[in-house]
Amino acid sequence: MTLRWRLTAAFVLVVAVPLVIGTAMVAGAFPREVQSAQRDGALTSSRLVAQVLRDYCDRARATAEAAGRAATSTTPAGARAAVTSLVDRGLADGVQVLDPHGRVVAVSGSVPTAPSDCSTATHAGRYVSAVLPLTTAAGRPGGRAVASYLVTGSLLDNVRAAVHDGDVVLVDATGTVVTGTSALPRDVVRAAFDRTTKNGWVSGFTPPATGQPFGVVVLVHAATGPAVLLDATLVVLLAVGLAVVIAVLSARATTRPLEQLAEAAARIASGDLSTEIQVTSKDEVGRLAGAFNRMTEELRSYVGQLEASRDELQSGLARLGDTLSSTHDLDRILHVALESAVASTQATSGMVLLLTPSRDELVLAAAKGLEDIPIDLRVKVGDGVTGRVARSGDAFKGFVEGGSLGEPQGASVIAVPLKSSGTVIGVLDLFGVNDFDDNDLAIIRTFATQTTVAVDNVLLHEEAQRLSITDGLTGLWNYRYFTMTIAKEIERAARFSRPLALLMLDLDHFKGVNDSFGHQRGDAVLIELAARLRSEVRDVDIVARYGGEEIVIVLPETDADGAAQLAERICAMVRRKPFGEPGVPPVRITVSVGGAVFPRHGLAASTLLARADQALYEAKHAGRDTWRIATESSLPH
Ligand code: GH3
Ligand code: MG
Ligand code: MG
Repeated sequence: MTLRWRLTAAFVLVVAVPLVIGTAMVAGAFPREVQSAQRDGALTSSRLVAQVLRDYCDRARATAEAAGRAATSTTPAGARAAVTSLVDRGLADGVQVLDPHGRVVAVSGSVPTAPSDCSTATHAGRYVSAVLPLTTAAGRPGGRAVASYLVTGSLLDNVRAAVHDGDVVLVDATGTVVTGTSALPRDVVRAAFDRTTKNGWVSGFTPPATGQPFGVVVLVHAATGPAVLLDATLVVLLAVGLAVVIAVLSARATTRPLEQLAEAAARIASGDLSTEIQVTSKDEVGRLAGAFNRMTEELRSYVGQLEASRDELQSGLARLGDTLSSTHDLDRILHVALESAVASTQATSGMVLLLTPSRDELVLAAAKGLEDIPIDLRVKVGDGVTGRVARSGDAFKGFVEGGSLGEPQGASVIAVPLKSSGTVIGVLDLFGVNDFDDNDLAIIRTFATQTTVAVDNVLLHEEAQRLSITDGLTGLWNYRYFTMTIAKEIERAARFSRPLALLMLDLDHFKGVNDSFGHQRGDAVLIELAARLRSEVRDVDIVARYGGEEIVIVLPETDADGAAQLAERICAMVRRKPFGEPGVPPVRITVSVGGAVFPRHGLAASTLLARADQALYEAKHAGRDTWRIATESSLPH
């Protein structure tokens, strides 16, 4: 059942119940009241009729007096004429004058045979008569005069006129019904006369009295209950019908805003957040609509924030992806990954640490929002949140308890390991003021995975690059790298007018080493020689394997003297200490060195190489284990 129908039903009940109860009460009381009024009316009517009868009695007396006066003052003929005249003039229906002996002196019209005077209550018969004793002039009894009205004719007309509503019945002193205006059941009349009420009838009764010869009964049909009830029922039905119409209209007016509200709620539930309800009233529904609008607005702003944060995450991931795929700069990759992770989780700070090759320590690789952190921070595996995550290889979400090792005390933290092929290579930490949730952890895992892939790529790339420009046996730069570098170094020396030296080394009788000790020991000698050379030269010097057991060294900012000094040191260094690990037969060997200097001995790399090669040849020729620097005139430019 809808709210509208409930409201309608309630309204109808509220109106109809009191209406029906009231009607029932009225319907019960109304007939009694009506009958009481009818009774009063009937009584009044009977009194009016009694008054009419009294008037007739008075008029009969006046007529009898007139007839008596005429009879005593004139001849019998005159009396007859007078009597006839009275009747003709309508002053009575019958007039009679009798002498003292009871003989008729004059008569006209209809007169009862034994009239009784209407002033007595014992009047009987169908006449209203006045009987007047006459006296002669001498004072003796002179007979009597009688004037009568029949209770039909004009009298009855006047009686009817006096009764507004109902039937009138005249009853004489003997209880005989003299006349009635209609045929009435005898028992009804009888009951009225006895002043009791017969069902269905209401009566008023005025008894005979002096000057009023008949009892007057006025009978009226009682106003019946059913008729009143029918009227009342019709009124009630009409009122209930009206109530239903009003109820339906008012319920519709009440529920329409609620229906609009329900429709709007359904639209919002289906995702249309632009829905706005018109607030047309200030009542409860209006307030509800207002609250609803505010709620929708909150939802809109919440969704907006969610979308913004999603966009931020997407752009962070995109930025990270772009950076990761476009650079092999490890430092930049780690910084971008860290910044993206911080922005995407609303963290306040964060850092990335990488495991050292020894795998017992982590070193700081990138930091954000951590002002006081030492730039060379090192954390032992197992220490703090970072160290524990590095050791266990499992992500951690919680709080920093200790508060050292770069971790802000009491901060909420997420730490995830950076894992390459199942091996931990570092840890990404994020710190915040608010708690992180599982969603944040999932985001950071994504960033960590992407970052690890990128770091792997960088390391692979670096390794590949290293392999392409280094010598596989000795780890020195290879010939390819040497040719690239010598050209650049010559160009720089030329631009800044700086010297540049080139040394070329060749082991003496190396073939013999291979022959005596085997090729493997020969290789080992070459490896050891490379290590000794690296420790002998400056960082800026470039030591490259030129081929076989020949090595070139590029010496920026070095002139002929400097080259000669280094050549000497190299010869001594090789000569002084035999090659080989303890426990194996030592290999004693020497080296010959030739040098050339830019720009003195040549301006091109090939010229310089040729000059150095020639100087080397000269050193060999001089008996080996020595060095030579090219001379100006040894070869044309
Ligand atoms: P010298 O230079 O004093 O004239 O005599 P040498 O015996 O060193 O002669 P040369 O420089 O011409 O010989 C080069 C020898 O070095 C040939 C080869 O047996 C050896 N050799 C070259 N490259 C390698 C290498 O990678 N490993 C080993 N074990 N030996 C090499
Ligand atoms: Mg050689
Ligand atoms: Mg040699």
